[in-house]
Amino acid sequence: MTTHASSAERTTSLLEDAAALAPDVTHLRHRLHREPEIGLELPRTQEKVLEWLDGLGLEVSTGRDTTSVTAVLRGGAGEDRTGRVPSVLLRGDMDALPVTERTGLEYASVIDGAMHACGHDLHTAMLAGAATLLSARRDQLPGDVVFMFQPGEEGYDGASVMIDEGVLDAPGRRVDAAYGQHVMAGLAAGGQVLGRPGTTMSSSAALFVDVIGRGGHGSAPHLAADPVPAAAEIIGAIQAFVTRRFDVFDPVVVTVGVLRAGTKRNIIPDTAHLEATVRAFSHRSKEVLARELPSLVRSVAAAHGLDAAVEYKEEYPLTVNNPLEFDRAARSARELLGDSRFEAMPVPLSGSEDFSRVLHEVPGAFVYLSAVPEGVDPATVAFNHSPRAVFDDKVLATGTALYARLAMDRLEVGA
Ligand SMILES: [Zn+2]
Ligand SMILES: [Zn+2]
Repeated sequence: MTTHASSAERTTSLLEDAAALAPDVTHLRHRLHREPEIGLELPRTQEKVLEWLDGLGLEVSTGRDTTSVTAVLRGGAGEDRTGRVPSVLLRGDMDALPVTERTGLEYASVIDGAMHACGHDLHTAMLAGAATLLSARRDQLPGDVVFMFQPGEEGYDGASVMIDEGVLDAPGRRVDAAYGQHVMAGLAAGGQVLGRPGTTMSSSAALFVDVIGRGGHGSAPHLAADPVPAAAEIIGAIQAFVTRRFDVFDPVVVTVGVLRAGTKRNIIPDTAHLEATVRAFSHRSKEVLARELPSLVRSVAAAHGLDAAVEYKEEYPLTVNNPLEFDRAARSARELLGDSRFEAMPVPLSGSEDFSRVLHEVPGAFVYLSAVPEGVDPATVAFNHSPRAVFDDKVLATGTALYARLAMDRLEVGA
């Protein structure tokens, strides 16, 4: 017979151990932060992770096509009531952004044009810390834990690469649940954990348009076919489409971030180019956008007697928390940190995440950890992706303990 420590005992020892480990986790985070890497190839980051995991007694493997790291911890407490050994996946992404850091921090990036501006250095360090905490408790763990150290979250779909390589079946069978967390440079007071059941982040898609006209002299537009007014009308029509075609309680976002045409004021260009990012919070709206946005663009161009070459590319799906797994994660966070440290979010965030790929395959939850430094207003501070975004080291112990606690509580539930 096994006796399990009470929830209160487990909480105290976990928080104490995470606090004791915090200097090492912080040191790792600073080393990662100084040397950020972008995309799917993160050799120096991978090296630091492997160095940390060495000696913890995990089954470690590295990606075939990327610099991912998958580590499996085998619990010693055996199978659950049904005779199966449960398993849970914890994910931390590791990549940085093409941003030149302007925080002035002592441990700021030394790589020109690269910065951990989305806080993935904290995710990596906290997940590594959780591997240490959990491996010290392996004898009491009633199941296996998969640590998913993922490259290429920022637009490279690294999660898909790791899923293709079998991360969800790393224990030798499909994991029963998956959890992830994301630090936030704004959003709430530092140390708060936030989340919601169901849709928690938007889907994303990309729209590329070339309005094809016929260039000519700026003084004689009647002899040319000017793509510029058509491009301007397309942008206006998109905004009207957003406000008129969608339920105000199921909104969408379309932002035209690129608009390019012409070389000189007296030359009518052949083409005008624009690009937009497209976000939705429901499958229904996502489908309406994919179906109607390209035809809207073509129709406006046609009204000017012009063609438009349109490409519509789906990027990340909606990030959807399984309601049951979300409740479990919320309970774990409340028990670990106290009720006041967990906040239910009324609405999703309008960012997108490739952890959505994992949640599409396995029930799980994605929560947010505010890393706003003390005394800073979360409403006005520089947000994730800003060259001035600052993530407070103080949350590292919290995030490390939270990762570990999510796994421990989920394994107790069974397969
Ligand atoms: Zn990001
Ligand atoms: Zn991120």
